[in-house]
Amino acid sequence: MDMPTKTAAPVAAMPRRKPLAKQTLLTHLGRDREAYHGFVNPPVYRGSTVLFASMDDLVHGRNEFTYGRKGNPTLRALEDAWTQLSGAAGTVLCSSGLLAITTALLALVKAGDHILVTDSVYGPVRQFCDGMLARLGVRVRYFDPACGAGIAELFEPATRLVYLESPGSLTLEIQDVPAIAAAAHARGAVVVMDNTWSTPLLFDAHGHGVDVSVEAGTKYLGGASDLLIGVASANAATWPALRAAHLTLGCMPGPEDVFLALRGLRTLELRLRESEWRALELAHWLQRRPEVERVLHPALPGHANHAIWRRDFDGSSGLFSAVLKPVAPQRLARMLDGLELFGMGYSWGGFESLVTPIDHDLQRTATTWTAAGPTLRFYAGLEDVDDLKRDLDDGFRRMNRGD
Ligand SMILES: *Cc1c(COP(=O)(O)O)cnc(C)c1O
Repeated sequence: MDMPTKTAAPVAAMPRRKPLAKQTLLTHLGRDREAYHGFVNPPVYRGSTVLFASMDDLVHGRNEFTYGRKGNPTLRALEDAWTQLSGAAGTVLCSSGLLAITTALLALVKAGDHILVTDSVYGPVRQFCDGMLARLGVRVRYFDPACGAGIAELFEPATRLVYLESPGSLTLEIQDVPAIAAAAHARGAVVVMDNTWSTPLLFDAHGHGVDVSVEAGTKYLGGASDLLIGVASANAATWPALRAAHLTLGCMPGPEDVFLALRGLRTLELRLRESEWRALELAHWLQRRPEVERVLHPALPGHANHAIWRRDFDGSSGLFSAVLKPVAPQRLARMLDGLELFGMGYSWGGFESLVTPIDHDLQRTATTWTAAGPTLRFYAGLEDVDDLKRDLDDGFRRMNRGD
């Protein structure tokens, strides 16, 4: 790590018999009792200017913090906590998940490079690749998320980067990350992965060969639908480039949002587990409904990539999709419009359950994704699961009504 690390590391520095469990780390990382007069949480540092005591200190940049855009103790607390939680060399924070992704890509490619991107990628990332990256002279090729080691055939001499998202946005394909990472590293390419669905708690991205792991902290880290934040953690090989790009682009989040994200970090494990079992309950329940064609959830044994999920993941999160049998749009609207508990809207990861119809025009270029009926994306929040089932049951009744 090439930056000063006045880590809140009393925990990490403790000699110990076995590594601390993730729950313990979530409770203790990023805190520094001595620096904050004994208060449990770091304060919200607001500020652009940082004053130096002397010209000598200013000229030699001797302050630990030198200017607001380059960091402050509130940001440092979350960066350090995330770095240790992820087993990374360093972490940068951005004002949105999308910005963390675009910063990571800009850090690692240059004009003339070729990159491979999963066809199941989050839509706005595809737009960035096809628009801005293409304009900057980077060629993009999309690949079938099910390719596994077969990705080797797609490499060109100029291929520098492979971009993964597992499970895939909306359609939830699981990728064979270790196989793809091995193929990429054998050809000198780096691997960037969107790990938003899992967080470091459910998928150890760096441990499975990912160089830069990006995540919309907007979702589970924030956990309350009240902020936007992006997180990118890098291994030792890619950290200098990521850090430099982040400084060059100037993409800091506001300290208030970072403070809220730190608060979210403390309960991340609890919320994930609660969301996980509710989502599984709903997925099983939906599977038995006559209106449902198939449920897309990697923890269900019938999922096409279930075996890889079992091998690599430590659990599942609250987001999944379900394909309905063909039904008239007005009937679907009647179901969704009358829901009392499930909200309809973008994003997820908060305390409230959501259901959103998916636009079937996924703009795939390497694969096709077809479904005869409409597809719904579900997010299981923290409500009582029987109340949630009743809300959906009422919805299906409205859908099936004869008029
Ligand atoms: C929401 C999301 C993003 C983007 O995060 P923002 O904070 O909304 O910019 C990226 N990837 C995935 C998988 C997401 O769900």
